[in-house]
Amino acid sequence: MSTELLDLFRERAALLEGHFQLSSGLHSPRYLQCALVLADPPVATRLGEELADLLLRDGAAHGVTTVVAPALGGILVAHEVARALGVRSMFTERQDGAMTLRRGFTLSAADRVVVVEDVITTGGSTREVIDAVKAQGAQVLAAGSLVDRSGGAAEVGVSRRSLLAVDVPLWPAGSCPLCAAGGVAVKPGSRPAPRA
Ligand code: ZN
Repeated sequence: MSTELLDLFRERAALLEGHFQLSSGLHSPRYLQCALVLADPPVATRLGEELADLLLRDGAAHGVTTVVAPALGGILVAHEVARALGVRSMFTERQDGAMTLRRGFTLSAADRVVVVEDVITTGGSTREVIDAVKAQGAQVLAAGSLVDRSGGAAEVGVSRRSLLAVDVPLWPAGSCPLCAAGGVAVKPGSRPAPRA
């Protein structure tokens, strides 16, 4: 799967080279723009099925009732994983800086939740969603992502799966060699895709 998914990113010009500031605050010379891959609905559905299969494989997600993701990047992933699992999909948003279930989304102690996102780097977003889910009294079974950019290192406190592990350099802003060379990092979500 991994090679095939990486090919898909290349095919869709979704593997960007440059100088990026990730949502974690870390800088990197490469960025995987999942939105470009998820823009094709049948592809999004298939990736959701594959991640759902992976989460079910060792029983980690057994009995799941709801899939929850951080907005915006995780919304489509949660939706497609939930479709494959036959359960509900929800997302959290930041309210005064804190990940929160809004829009009337509620969970109860009866809910068993899988938390997903598009790309995991430090695991910070997933951990924040897990905390928001637990604050509602629900149980968190497992976590998943399409891409793992952490080198497998992201710890989120529950078992975690991803479809594709990619090795990319990640630097704190203060020790980024591209910044040291005078470059300015861009937030990849906030600019148009470069012309191929
Ligand atoms: Zn930098």
